[in-house]
Parts: sequence; C-alpha cells; structure tokens
Amino acid sequence: MNTAIIWFRKIIRIHDNPMLIWAESSQEIDSIIPIYIIDENITGVNRLNFLYDSLLDLDKNLKEKYGTKLLICSGDSSEVIESIIEGTGQKVTSLLTDYCSEPKSRNDVGYIIENLISREVNTKVFPAVSTILDIEKITQMKHFKAPKSTKNMEKIFEENVIISPSGHLLDGELPEPDNIHSEPLVIESIIQSEQFSKFYISVKELQKKNYQLRSEKGFEKSYFLGGETEALKRLKEKITERPDFVNNFRKPSTYSTNNIENPMEPTTTGLSPYISNGCLSVKLVWNECAKLRDINQYTKPPESLHGQLMFREMFYLLSRIVENWEDDLDNSNCKPIKWDDYDREKIRAWETGVTGFPYIDAMMRQLDATGWMHHLGRHAVSCFLTRGQLWQNWKHGRDIFERKLIDADWAVNNGNWLWLAGVAPFSMPYYRVYNPCPDSKSSLNVETKEASFIRYWIPELSLYPSKYIFEPHLAPLEIQKLSNCIIGEDYPFPIINRKVSRKENISKFKENLQKL
Ligand SMILES: Cc1cc2nc3c(=O)[nH]c(=O)nc-3n(C[C@H](O)[C@H](O)[C@H](O)COP(=O)(O)OP(=O)(O)OC[C@H]3O[C@@H](n4cnc5c(N)ncnc54)[C@H](O)[C@@H]3O)c2cc1C
Repeated sequence: MNTAIIWFRKIIRIHDNPMLIWAESSQEIDSIIPIYIIDENITGVNRLNFLYDSLLDLDKNLKEKYGTKLLICSGDSSEVIESIIEGTGQKVTSLLTDYCSEPKSRNDVGYIIENLISREVNTKVFPAVSTILDIEKITQMKHFKAPKSTKNMEKIFEENVIISPSGHLLDGELPEPDNIHSEPLVIESIIQSEQFSKFYISVKELQKKNYQLRSEKGFEKSYFLGGETEALKRLKEKITERPDFVNNFRKPSTYSTNNIENPMEPTTTGLSPYISNGCLSVKLVWNECAKLRDINQYTKPPESLHGQLMFREMFYLLSRIVENWEDDLDNSNCKPIKWDDYDREKIRAWETGVTGFPYIDAMMRQLDATGWMHHLGRHAVSCFLTRGQLWQNWKHGRDIFERKLIDADWAVNNGNWLWLAGVAPFSMPYYRVYNPCPDSKSSLNVETKEASFIRYWIPELSLYPSKYIFEPHLAPLEIQKLSNCIIGEDYPFPIINRKVSRKENISKFKENLQKL
C-alpha cells in the first residue's frame, strides 16, 4: 500500500485542487493522508477564527466526500511530517503540496525535500494554485521585466495565460475528484502514535478554541465566516448572480463606507479573505467574472474585477524577485525615507481608533472587530499613518494589518503598504495626500449624508449632525452637548493638526527625495 501525504498550505479547499486530482489519477499511490500545519505566528483573533472555521469546514467536506479526516496540527513542519511518516506503518511514497512564494515557505519546503530524499519520499510542489500565474516559471524567464502597472500585467497575461475570446482561463478550474481513497485505520494509528500526538489538534479542541476566542471577543459569530462552503456561497451571491455588478464594476466608484443598510457588508465582493486563505480558487473567481462578460459594458483593468485580480498577481511576481520585499532597507522597491522614530502614543491611537478623526477611527475599529476594511479605507489609514499625517514607518502599520486582517497576505500586504507610503516605483505621487476628514466629493468615496458607517462604528458620535460628524471638534459646544458627546471628554480631539502635518510632511518627503 503506497501512501501520499497531501499537505494543504495556501489552499484550504477541495475544488480546483490539483493535488487531489493528481492523487486520484496517479498509479503511484493507493491512499492519501491530508494534513494542515497551523502557522504559530498567526495571533490575531479574527484571523485565527477565520482559519479555524476554514479548517473545520475542510475536515467536514473531506469526511463527507472521501471519508477521511484532515490531520490538523501545529509545530515545526519538518518534525510534523517526520512524525507522520514514522506513525503510518505504511510506505509513504509522496508528499504533495501547493507552491507558496514567501521566502520562509520556500526554505521550509526546500529543507523538507532534502530530508525526504533519503527516505525515498518524492515531494511534488504544485505551481499556480493560489495564483493564476506560475510565479516561479514566469520570474525565471529570460525576458521577464518587473511589472509596474496593469498594462505590464496585461502583457504578461497575454504571453503566459491561455485566455479564450470570452476572457475565460482555459487551464483554470479543475473538476472535484470523486475517487480519492484513504485508510481510516492508518490515520488513526498516526493520531495514536506518541511522536505525532504532541502536534495533533483534534476537531473538538479546535472547535473549543474557536468558541473561546469568539467569547473573549464578545461575538458568537464573525461577520466573515471562514471556509470553502461559505466562500462558494459568497461567490454565487456577490458575482455569479449579479451580472450588472460584474460588468459595471469600477473599483474607485465603490463606497469605502460599506452598504448603507449594513455597515458590515462590503460594496466590493468581500472575497479577499477566502482567496487569501485559499478557501476559494482565484481562477474560479476570474472565470465566473468572464462568464458574465458583456462585451459592450464590461469595464477594463485596472478598474474592473479582472483588473483587481491582476494587481494581486503583480504583487506576487514582484515579491518573488525583489530582495527584502518586506523591508525598508536594501529593498529596490522602497525609497529609504527617514521616518520619525516609533511613537507609541501615535501608533496606539491609530490602531485602537482614537485619533480624533472619525473616518480613520471608524475604519480601524471595523478592522479590529471584523478583520476587514474596504480598499479605499486602507488607502486612507495607511496614508494617514505614513506620509499623510503621522510620519511613521509603513512597517508599523503593515505589522498591525498582518496581525488583524483576515485576508492578510505577505506579498499583497507589503506591496500595498509600499504603494501607499509613496516609496515604491508603482506608488501614487507622494504629494497626493488624502484628507482624513472626507466630504462627499472625496475620492475616498464616503457616504456623508446619513454617515451611518461612522455612527455605527463610533457610537459616541451617533447623535451628531452629519455636517459635523467627520470633524466633530468643530461643532459648537451647544451642538456637542445636544449630541451627548463633548469632544475632549467623550471622544478625543484630533491628535494632530491635519493641515499643518500634511504641509510639513510633503516638504519632508520632497527633501528626502532630493537627498537620494
Ligand atoms: C495598505 C493596504 C494593505 C492591504 N493588504 C492586503 C492583504 O494583506 N491581503 C489582500 O488580499 N489584500 C490587501 N489589500 C488590497 C485590497 O485592499 C483588498 O484585497 C480588497 O480590499 C479586498 O476586498 P474585496 O475582496 O472586496 O476586493 P474586490 O474589489 O472585490 O477585488 C477582488 C479581489 O481582487 C484582489 N484585489 C483587490 N484589490 C487588490 C489590491 N490592491 N492588491 C492585491 N489584490 C487585490 C483581492 O483578492 C480581492 O478579493 C491591501 C490594500 C492596502 C491599501
């Protein structure tokens, strides 16, 4: 009996899963052992809840479809895999896993492959599972040039992806296999083995942890429930059933303050947590949009939904070739701006949503409560923290996003912070600073008439007239009293004079550039 370990890494799903397809058709193996190793560096409550939901859902789907459990574990990946091989009592011939581009993941797999060679276990790493493009292949091509725009990305797509005239990816979306075999007794013997048991987390334990985290936070349920089942449901509701939405999608026109009726629900697709965690195939999302394409209406990149997905691919390509992508030093895509030293008070106010700028605070409180924020909200808060108002290093904000975002993604998060801090070749001009007190004409696209988003996330201001709600310290004391919120007592004064800081920071940025 030849067995393959299927190690799910940036993919937590059954659909569009080339490892399962391979396992079904291969003559080399008879049964599989599906595993997932939890990254112990993930600490944010919403992120953990989303991940646990997703793992519980995958376990349930694997049981229903193939009668096998998912072995959920935590610990050093090399030691976990060793312990499984020891615990099977069967011949493990293959380790199948999906490609991850992050340096740490690549190193880990490289090390594991080397170790397994002596055990005669073949490792097979499947490319282009969490991306559309084969990142390794494309970045190693002789004529590859680092992309800076969607124009460059369209060219890369034209040259490397087979797309039908209707915009459908021809090699995308693999069918769900039916005939996957596993040996429940083998899986049980691994769970019982002394070596493996220290890494193993049972479904019951995971459910308990999930429940405890939610209780501590005071929520029974998260707004974004993790998992493939929920991902496919959201895909259907937000894309498949809405041809007009897809054809007319223009990212810059979507409201950053969510749906007026529901301050939790994005005006964009809200699919990023599912794509980032691999609960949803990005190729499937691309194809669902392409199927609805009406040639006379369909918006174009960079504004269209296909344009959004191209940005994602762009950051994956760049992060693979740019050394020190996550750093502000020795990074060819980051101008070395001299930011102020870490200011605990400023960062704390920004992170916890008490800067005295209600739009910024509402966005940051939404992030804390749900793990998600609209793209333009992310623009505003990252600009505010860096070149806009607080003059703090973008890496401090990046780390907080990394911890809290349920769609946190190493390549994409760093790429967007570089963009917004104004330091990258693809950045917006440094002097285009967002006003953190937006009006109805702001490019941040804010619903200002009812201002229901601000009222929801900052209940202190819920009775303020819309006229003053974005800059409540300007309201006459009489109105502050009538609205039950005195600025400086019930809600903070702005921590900075936005007009002065904007002017000073633009000059500082210019001076920094002149010195380079
Ligand atoms: C400072 C900052 C940090 C960010 N960090 C992350 C992150 O860690 N993970 C992440 O997935 N996105 C990140 N983004 C990008 C973007 O904000 C989110 O992908 C988007 O808001 C998700 O919402 P949606 O699914 O409704 O997007 P939609 O507009 O519906 O777009 C569809 C999909 O396209 C992709 N996409 C959209 N915009 C971008 C973009 N600018 N860059 C890359 N991919 C994009 C996402 O996968 C998204 O789900 C960041 C943006 C900023 C400004």
